[in-house]
Amino acid sequence: MHAAPTADCRSFTIVFTVRSKIKSKMSQKFQLIRRAFQALNASQLRWKSSAASPSAQGSAAKVPEGLSFALSNEQQEYKDLAAKFVEDKVIPKAAEYDKSGEYPMDVITECWNLGLMNTHIPQEYGGLGLGILDACIVTEELAYGCTGIQTAIEANSLGQMPLILAGNDEQKKKYLGRMMEEPLMCAYGVTEPIAGSDVSGIATRAVKKGDEYILNGSKMWITNGGKANWYFVLARTDENPLVCPTKSKEFTGFIVEREWSGVEPGRKEWNMGQRASDTRGITFTDVRIPKENVLAVQGAGFKIAMGAFDKTRPPVAAGAVGLARRAMDEATKYSLERTAFGKKISEFQAVQFILAEMAINVEAARLLTQRSAWEIDLGKRNTYFASIAKAFAADIANKCATDAVQVFGGNGFNSDYPVEKLMRDAKIYQIYEGTAQIQRVIISRELLSKARERWS
Ligand SMILES: Cc1cc2nc3c(=O)[nH]c(=O)nc-3n(C[C@H](O)[C@H](O)[C@H](O)COP(=O)(O)OP(=O)(O)OC[C@H]3O[C@@H](n4cnc5c(N)ncnc54)[C@H](O)[C@@H]3O)c2cc1C
Repeated sequence: MHAAPTADCRSFTIVFTVRSKIKSKMSQKFQLIRRAFQALNASQLRWKSSAASPSAQGSAAKVPEGLSFALSNEQQEYKDLAAKFVEDKVIPKAAEYDKSGEYPMDVITECWNLGLMNTHIPQEYGGLGLGILDACIVTEELAYGCTGIQTAIEANSLGQMPLILAGNDEQKKKYLGRMMEEPLMCAYGVTEPIAGSDVSGIATRAVKKGDEYILNGSKMWITNGGKANWYFVLARTDENPLVCPTKSKEFTGFIVEREWSGVEPGRKEWNMGQRASDTRGITFTDVRIPKENVLAVQGAGFKIAMGAFDKTRPPVAAGAVGLARRAMDEATKYSLERTAFGKKISEFQAVQFILAEMAINVEAARLLTQRSAWEIDLGKRNTYFASIAKAFAADIANKCATDAVQVFGGNGFNSDYPVEKLMRDAKIYQIYEGTAQIQRVIISRELLSKARERWS
């Protein structure tokens, strides 16, 4: 048995472990993380986490072979760091940003300083190169605080993922590298006013002229639309359908810079929930894109745009889990305080069962989410699991938030209490990154294709 380490010793271990994962040019960034961690009274936090977590009991956690639900030391530290950040910096400001609809750049900047965003940027481009499961662990915590802020942060991952999957070294150095230099945002621009679920229905077009493409069209509902430094944009490039007979090869993915002439974000949309997040339409008028900004090759865009979802749906599901857990916690706390008929309402079995149902759903959704992340981190195709996790977590987030409002009674319907925001915020999980119906289309397609192989 190893003795539990002191806070100082643990602090050294964490910094050393994390630092050894990155190149020396990142040491400055980790000084920042360490300073921020200290500022967040991390020593007290670490003491708590070593007591609570079997994986944090001293010696470097060895991942046992076979099934394991234990977090590694490093994952536990990221989780604790994110939880502390959320408690100190996100929760106190969430209601204010929800009301004003202002972009929470101060909170995002602190998140960036702590190394809690862009976690998947590979080490060779200055990032941490963490896995999708790591991202899910952090994202659940961020979402617990405010899913509007979490979505703004998560949209960076979505915008970057096509570049990570298909960009060349120069593109990655240029566009991922700059996101590690300062807290910049980016965005994923696929949906259009005329087409969302049916991505192949988009009309934005890029026409090749010499060494450039000329881009015209408009996108809709783009998260970080007005704040992004650059966009991943999917456009039609099928000049000649005879040369391009495969439907999916009609599209090309580009990196488009915000400052280029002809790029115009529209007004911020006032949505039902997640109001801290910035959602806009974007118009492209004769935007000149150098051919160096094509991702992979002309015609590869559809595959790249869709492929990104295998890596981003697990964290979106984790966001929904975070929201559901917050709803459960708020409802539980309230049930212990509120009295009716001379008793705390937590003593009524009807209320207890609502809380129990929330717990069942939160635990199940987290397991599905982490399974889908684990699959992709192992390099397996996770489309089936990612859609199951996203569909289930989105549904239970809505159920938990609605039930939390129920537990709060009349107070739940009022914006002075936290749960009506949760209910408004939850809905989008059933819409973005593939609607609840589209997830089921994907799941049934995967299921039936395996069944046909087996039984037909
Ligand atoms: C707040 C917000 C943020 C967003 N962020 C981004 C972003 O950053 N980047 C981006 O590119 N997009 C973004 N989107 C767009 C989002 O992904 C789309 O809204 C979503 O994919 C649905 O597309 P749609 O709105 O066009 O609905 P539609 O596709 O018109 O669907 C309407 C209804 O029909 C159903 N339906 C459609 N096709 C089928 C089918 N084959 N089978 C069964 N039912 C079907 C849908 O499930 C839905 O219920 C965002 C949207 C919102 C609201």
